Formats: sequence, C-alpha cells, structure tokens
Amino acid sequence: MADRLRLNPNVAELPPYNAGMNIAVARSKTGLNDIAALASNENPYGCSPKVAVALVNLDPSRYADPACLILRDALSKTLGVAGSRIVIGNGSEEMIAAVCRAVLRPFSTVVAMTPGFGLHEIEPRANGAKVIKVPMTKDLRFDLEAMRIALKKKPSIFFISSPSNPVGPALEQNQLSRLIAAVPKETLLVFDEAYFEFRDENTPDGLEILGDSTISYVVLRTFSKAYGLAGLRVGYAVASDARLAQAMSSAKTPFNVNAAAQLAAVAALEDDNWMRVSVAGVVAERKRMAEAIISLGLFVPESQTNFLFIDVGCDSAIAFDHFLSHGVIVKPWKEPDFASFIRVTIGRPMENDRFLSALHLLKGKLAKEKVAS
Ligand SMILES: *Cc1c(COP(=O)(O)O)cnc(C)c1O
Repeated sequence: MADRLRLNPNVAELPPYNAGMNIAVARSKTGLNDIAALASNENPYGCSPKVAVALVNLDPSRYADPACLILRDALSKTLGVAGSRIVIGNGSEEMIAAVCRAVLRPFSTVVAMTPGFGLHEIEPRANGAKVIKVPMTKDLRFDLEAMRIALKKKPSIFFISSPSNPVGPALEQNQLSRLIAAVPKETLLVFDEAYFEFRDENTPDGLEILGDSTISYVVLRTFSKAYGLAGLRVGYAVASDARLAQAMSSAKTPFNVNAAAQLAAVAALEDDNWMRVSVAGVVAERKRMAEAIISLGLFVPESQTNFLFIDVGCDSAIAFDHFLSHGVIVKPWKEPDFASFIRVTIGRPMENDRFLSALHLLKGKLAKEKVAS
C-alpha cells in the first residue's frame, strides 16, 4: 500500500517553486507562435557566439570533470580568489541547496527576506530548518534595522539577494557595512549576486567587500542571467574559506555540472565584451520601461537587475492571464502581501513595447471595472 510509505514531511510539505511559464507551453496554451518570454530573467540577446564555437569540442560520451578545474581556474583568475574557495553548481540554485545541506541541521534557524527568492526558503525547509522572513520597508527598500534585529537570533544562515530578486534594489556600500557588522560569528551570510552584472556603477562588489570582513560568507553568482546560459545550468559559489567550500562540495552530487555547461561557461567568461554590450542594452531598456510604467501611475521600485517589480493593482493571477492572452509571459508574484505584483524581465525593445501596450490595456480594463462597481 503506497500510502503507508512515510515521506519526509520537510520535503513533502514544501511550497512549490513558482517557476516562469515555459515558452513552448505558452505557445500551446495560446495558439500564438510569437511569445515574449519575460518571466524568467533570461538574456533576451541569447549568449556569446563563442559558446557555440566551444561546444564543437563537446564529447557526450565522456564524463565531465567533477572538480570543474578549468572553469574554476578561469574564475579564480577573473575574481582574484583561490580556486579552493570556489564551488561550481548546476546553476547557482544547486549551491543554495549545497550550502543548506552543508550547514543546517533539523530545527536550525534561517533568516530570509520577503519579498524574496523562493529557494532561499524552500531549501532550508527541505533540510528541516525553520525560516524567519524579514520584510522590506513599505516602499520596498532594504530595512537594515529589521535585519539587525533578526540577526540577533543568531540564525545558522542569513539569505539575501542583492540586487534583490524580485524587487530590484541593491545594498549600498554603507548598508552592506551595517549588515556585515550585524552578522554574528555563528551565522553564515549567503549573499546572492545573481544580478551582479546589472548593478549600478556605485553599487559595491559584494565579494570584494566581504573579502575584507571577518565573517563567514558565501557569494553566489550565475551564468544564467547576464551570460545567457540559463538552459545549460551553471553557476558558482565563492566561500569565505576553503573548509566551507569543501563541505559544500561534499554536499553536491559528484558530476553535477555537465560537460556542455563547463565548456560553455569558460567560453562565455572569456567573452566579457559580449556580456557587457548585452547588459548595456538591457539597462537602457530597463530605464525606458520604468519611465513608461511610472507615467501610467503605477508603483515600480528602483531596479539594478534585468527586471521590474510592478504593483498592477489587481490579483497577479488575473494580470498573468491578461498578459498571456497578448503573447507575453510575466511572473505573477504569490507571496502574501505581494499578490498584486508581477515581475517582468526586460526583453528586446519590441517585446517590451508589447508588454507596455498590454499593461496599458490592463490599466484601462481595471479602471472601467472600478467605475462599473
Ligand atoms: C536566477 C536566480 C538564481 C539561480 O539561478 P541559476 O539559474 O540556478 O544559476 C539564484 N538566485 C537568484 C536570486 C536568482 O534570481
């Protein structure tokens, strides 16, 4: 009798991860071929052409290097940190899982942000930890005082994404210093910089600042966003010391990063220029989009990422259906208190125009309903 099988309740009762709708699924649901996929923060310009060249050397019959030595060496040179402190993951999401497995025990306490990145809650809970959420301020800025108070509980891990997913702002230099000063020696700070490449000029490099501190930390970065390799799954963690990196390495599966991903990431990293040009295109479009949305009278917090978080003033599920019917996939936010927000990725100019005109129509529809009721 299958229902007699006892599941691990920490895992069986996890909330689902709110993944963006896949483009092929959207095509079959809408019957539209031309879909603007603006839900998953991918690079709308694809990836460096050097990646395809590198993949010519792929030999699918051979196991990939479980230590990812070539990629780690390349990152070690680029970042100026010892390779022994770097762990490569099957996406940085795998490194979120690995750090939890390496550090947490049943009934550990973890602090994460709300609104925040789903896996900062899901992975700790899968490991039996209790998750406390720190809200941002009413106008969706980082609340350093609330963080300081939460850290007084000496959690095992404090997760924060900066620039923030889903909201967009990044910690400024003085805010990051305040955060570091508040981290107890019992706590590991996981500083998730998935959107590092999109940040403003004055925003500090988390790895650099944390490197000058004495706290325990892990910085997470990824090839999925700015480098355009989301489908291949490769990201990495830089730990404050080799002992922590070793524990995270032990917590992952041995052949976690496939051969194609390793080849592609090395090639992408070498073509820094391609990455910078595509990021500049996205940042210019982000400014244009934010201005257009604000001119519609909607609230959108400042963003240093490749997306915007928008209060559309209705249930996000209704907004999602509306946009999908116009061939645009957005991410409906579902966290309590933020269910009237959507997150939209900055796409190519034409895709963004399509989003803006659908947003205009949604606003008109909601205004009409208000008059009628
Ligand atoms: C996208 C994202 C990740 C994970 O990306 P991978 O594709 O797994 O590398 C991690 N953290 C945040 C905040 C993200 O937005």
